[in-house]
Amino acid sequence: EEGSDKPADASATVDVETAEQLSLLSHHISAILLELLGQLSIPQPQRKSARLLIQKMEQGFDWQQLPVVIDEVVTLILKTLVVRQEDFENYLSSLNLQLVDIQGFLVESRANQKAHRQSSETLDGVVRNDVSKVEASLLQAESLDQLKNSVRLQLADIVKAMDNYRNEQEVREQQAGARMEQLQGKLEIMEEQSLRMQAHLEEQRMRAISDPLTTLPNRAAYNEKVAQEFSRQRRYQHPLTLVVCDVDHFKRVNDNYGHLAGDKVLRLIARLISDRLRESDFVARYGGEEFVVLMPETSVDKAHEAIEQVREAIADSPFNFGGQPVQITMSFGVTGIRAADKSHEDAFQRADDALYQAKQQGRNRSIVAP
Ligand code: GH3
Ligand code: MG
Ligand code: MG
Repeated sequence: EEGSDKPADASATVDVETAEQLSLLSHHISAILLELLGQLSIPQPQRKSARLLIQKMEQGFDWQQLPVVIDEVVTLILKTLVVRQEDFENYLSSLNLQLVDIQGFLVESRANQKAHRQSSETLDGVVRNDVSKVEASLLQAESLDQLKNSVRLQLADIVKAMDNYRNEQEVREQQAGARMEQLQGKLEIMEEQSLRMQAHLEEQRMRAISDPLTTLPNRAAYNEKVAQEFSRQRRYQHPLTLVVCDVDHFKRVNDNYGHLAGDKVLRLIARLISDRLRESDFVARYGGEEFVVLMPETSVDKAHEAIEQVREAIADSPFNFGGQPVQITMSFGVTGIRAADKSHEDAFQRADDALYQAKQQGRNRSIVAP
C-alpha cells in the first residue's frame, strides 16, 4: 500500500516546481508590464484603475491571472496614449505569442507529469511482481542452486525495470530543460521588445509636450505644469509667480526679413530666456511669439527683477539679418498667484492684462499686475 503512494508524491513535487517556475515567469512579465505602465502619463479618469492594477502587480498574483492582467494593462495603454496603432498591434501580437508559449509549456509539463506517474506505476508494478515471484521461488525452491538462479533472474528483472525508468526520466528532464531554456529566450525577446516599446512611448510623449522649433516645453506641457504648481501653491502657500512674454512688433520681423529670420529670432529668444532664469523656473512656448514663465518659490518682486534682466539681455542682443543689426525687444506681464485666484487661469488673465499695459505704454518693458 505504501509503495503506491510514491508516484503521487513524486508528481506533487513536479507540480510544485512547475508552479514555482510559472510564478517566476509571472513576476518577470509583471516587472516588464510595470515598467511599461511607469512610462505612461495616465489621464485622470483612468488613474484609479491604474493604481489598483499597479498594486495588484506589485503584490504579486497567481500566474493564472496573467492573461487578465495583461488585458487590463493593454486596455489602460489604449485609453492613455495614442501610440501608432500599427506599432502597438505588433507589440501586442508578439506579447501574445510569448504567452501562447507559456501556456504550451504548461500543458506540456502537465503531460510530463502524467507520463511520469505512469512510468512510476509501471516500475512499481514490475518491482511488486518480481518481489512476489522471489517470495514464490523461496517457497517452491527444491535446491539452493535453483533458488539462487531464480533470485538472480528476478533481480536482473528489477534492475532492468529501474534502468528503464531512469532513462525515461532523463529524457523527460532533458525535454523540460530545453523547453525552459527556449522559454527563457522568448522572454528575453519580449523584454527587449518591451524596452523598445517604452522608448517609443517616451519619444511620443516627448513629441507631444515639446515645441519642435525652440525645443522648449509647449502649451500642453505648460497646462500640465501650471496645474501641478497651482495645487502645490494652494497646499503649501509658497509664492508662485507667472509671467506672460510677447515679442514686440514681431510681425515686422517676418515682413522685413522673412519667416525664416523670424524663426531664428524665436529660437534665440527661447535660449536667452532659459539661460537667464533658474533651473527651477519653467519656460514654455505658449504659442506664436508668446512665451510663459512659471517661477516657483519666487516672490513677485524677485521675479520682476529677474525678468527685467531677461528683458535687457534681449534688447541688448545683436540680432543680425544679412549683416544688418536689428534690435528685438519683448514685453512682459508679471503676477503672483493670489489667495483669491479660483484657478491658474485667473492669474494668467491678470498677467496678460499687465502685458497689454506694457504694450500700451510703449513696449520693451515689464509690468507687474496691480
Ligand atoms: P506686438 O508688439 O503688439 O506684439 O506686435 P506683433 O507684431 O508681435 O503682434 P502680432 O500678434 O500682430 O503678430 C505676431 C506675429 O508673429 C504674427 C505671426 O506672423 C508671427 N508668428 C507667430 N508664430 C510664428 C512662428 O512660429 N514663426 C514666425 N516666423 N513667425 C510667427
Ligand atoms: Mg502675440
Ligand atoms: Mg507680439
